[in-house]
Amino acid sequence: MFADEAYDALVVGARCAGAATAMLMARQGMRVLVIDRGGYGTDTISTHALMRGGVLQLHRWGILPRIQEADTPSVKTTTFHYADEAITVAIKPSNGVSALYAPRRTLLDRTLVDAAVSAGAVVRHGHTLINLTHRSDGRVCGGTVLDGDRNISQVQADVVVGADGSGSSVARLAGAETLVQARHTTAVLFGYFPGIELPGYHWWFRPGIGAGAIPTNCARHCVFVAIAPERLRNCPSQHDRLALFTELLRQADPALGELVAGIEPDGPLRVFGGRCGFLRQAHGPGWALVGDAGYFKDPLTAHGITDALRDAELLADAVVDGVMAKYAAARDDLSRPLFEVTDAIAGLNWGLEQIKVLHQALNESMKREVVHLLTLGDAHAAMREEVL
Ligand SMILES: Cc1cc2nc3c(=O)[nH]c(=O)nc-3n(C[C@H](O)[C@H](O)[C@H](O)COP(=O)(O)OP(=O)(O)OC[C@H]3O[C@@H](n4cnc5c(N)ncnc54)[C@H](O)[C@@H]3O)c2cc1C
Repeated sequence: MFADEAYDALVVGARCAGAATAMLMARQGMRVLVIDRGGYGTDTISTHALMRGGVLQLHRWGILPRIQEADTPSVKTTTFHYADEAITVAIKPSNGVSALYAPRRTLLDRTLVDAAVSAGAVVRHGHTLINLTHRSDGRVCGGTVLDGDRNISQVQADVVVGADGSGSSVARLAGAETLVQARHTTAVLFGYFPGIELPGYHWWFRPGIGAGAIPTNCARHCVFVAIAPERLRNCPSQHDRLALFTELLRQADPALGELVAGIEPDGPLRVFGGRCGFLRQAHGPGWALVGDAGYFKDPLTAHGITDALRDAELLADAVVDGVMAKYAAARDDLSRPLFEVTDAIAGLNWGLEQIKVLHQALNESMKREVVHLLTLGDAHAAMREEVL
């Protein structure tokens, strides 16, 4: 029970966005309570590819060694397959990042939670935010929390951070406005396959379909296909889905289809039915949103975790400085181009030359994001030269 406890921040959601935000706030001396309705170290529906900005953050925060020590494969190349054409790009070492990584969420989220606890944050799993509390002037000043034994308690906090995912209760209860709505979404089928010899990230694109193979922990590849959601609707059973998955991999690339067809995945395929992206108002009086709660985009550009880690730092700094407008301005400025290009890619209605142009635009947005991350803190000023 923590009925009479008061904190500087109550963070709702203890995955990549919430745990990272809590860790950074606690490292700067704030008293932070993090709650999550789920369990410590559990999985979630997501693939795992981190982009340079995300790895850079983990490196700067001192988290990367634990990810590497857990035998997370290092990714030194990214290969884009446009129908039968393959373009391989080497990951250029810079700013302490010599490879990319795709850790399982059971590892990444747990590591961030551990780091938040080490920094002094209090973390409670099995606790659900069910309401926000307000001062007489309307400012949010805490929340009502239900624990696993169905006890209800009130938590006071100067700021409530919604890191509670795309269906965010904090966003709904605070009345956060939707600033931009995406037009497209993909549905994703993915599974974990042993014995695949494909170094680096691989992404396949043909009109109407995207696919990927991502090396992750336990010597597995996370292999996915992304299609229009209506194509999944006639596949209610696991058997139907596996057949569709294999067929779609063949359509994306016959060699990939052959490679995966003979391999039994670990357990059933995972399904994401699709959800249109949005950019919500970043903050209001006494509350803020971070990660998918505030900014959700289609998974096909594999950038949600990287952006969640980015926004954790932008938000923690803004809260500590007491200038929340700074968070909204930076988040929106960096997010809008990524959001728009992701939406265009998720439409799956491009031609092969057009998707290459979209990838160039995505790459420019990612570079801009990395440059911005390097501006956070004087200690990183010298590193900035390498990217520019
Ligand atoms: C199919 C798919 C594939 C993806 N692949 C990639 C990829 O390869 N690379 C990448 O970077 N991104 C990827 N993403 C995006 C990525 O998964 C998200 O951007 C990321 O999970 C956002 O993290 P988060 O911490 O904001 O939210 P979440 O991971 O959604 O965590 C929210 C947490 O809040 C908790 N919560 C919710 N409501 C409450 C409440 N009321 N009280 C207490 N706790 C609550 C939940 O239990 C949950 O643990 C993918 C997404 C999908 C769907």
